[in-house]
Amino acid sequence: AAAEVRDPVRSALESVLDEVRPRTGGEVASYIPELARVDPDPLGVALVSVRGVVHEAGDTETHFTIQSVSKPFVFALALDALGLDEVMRHVGIEPSGEPFNAISLELATGRPLNPMINAGAIVMSSLMPGDTADEKFDAIHRGIQRFAGRELAVDEAVFSSEHATGDRNRALAYLTLSAGTLGSPVEVATTAYFRQCSISVTARDLATMAATLATGGVNPITRERVISEDAARWTSAVMSSCGMYDESGDWLLRVGLPAKSGVGGGISAVLPGQFGIGTFSPRLDAKGNSVRGVAMLEAMSARFELHLLQHR
Ligand code: GLU
Repeated sequence: AAAEVRDPVRSALESVLDEVRPRTGGEVASYIPELARVDPDPLGVALVSVRGVVHEAGDTETHFTIQSVSKPFVFALALDALGLDEVMRHVGIEPSGEPFNAISLELATGRPLNPMINAGAIVMSSLMPGDTADEKFDAIHRGIQRFAGRELAVDEAVFSSEHATGDRNRALAYLTLSAGTLGSPVEVATTAYFRQCSISVTARDLATMAATLATGGVNPITRERVISEDAARWTSAVMSSCGMYDESGDWLLRVGLPAKSGVGGGISAVLPGQFGIGTFSPRLDAKGNSVRGVAMLEAMSARFELHLLQHR
């Protein structure tokens, strides 16, 4: 029989899965019933190279909601559409050191501290082209699909519940409206944002999206240019400083890769010029980061010497 050709990267990913599988600490997100009910056990990791080669292990086709992993990609779309100066009139790029839903606005300018916390992300959604929530969401949806290189559905149950329970996000949006940084009426911005968070993805999608940042803005599978090289670099920079909630400093020290996590259990991580990684495991630590996702990326960074700031 012909010898089966083993993909060495896949074997490495499988060994990382085996290493973290016993770690069943943490809790699935429970702020809405639709998330509290998800199966806590799936575990997957995918790696997409800048040449478009896909390596994956575990549950890389299980769907979950993108949640906050959408934030850097919508920031990237806003940068591409409006340019850095105009985007920075609406949002800062400093780590907040505070939880994702903090009331965190710069006193002097009224800008949310960065686009990775909810206040800043809602402002980014409000800047998307169009007047209605549907038009803004459509621009977001089309953009995220180009990053992922395929059509993505919206989880309507998660969306309804986010919309029904999202008063804190509305309150954040009202603060930015009164400070003059929101680009649309509150309900337009928050509805677009809630739909954005409810887009359904897989670990493989998150790896492809990260790989599109790693190439400098070209989706390595579809070969389509999604955003400019500048927008890709700026986005990776903000992911490095602000992507992992109030654990971002610790993450940069230990893992050293631009990354963004979401409460759906996904993480998207970038090694610029090399590849994107997507991980999925729904149980979260106290800060809202996937316990096994963090463990997988820590293990990969150490084992394969991925830390961006290491001496080469
Ligand atoms: N829909 C959630 C919210 O805006 C997303 C939170 C997250 O993934 O951090 O509250």
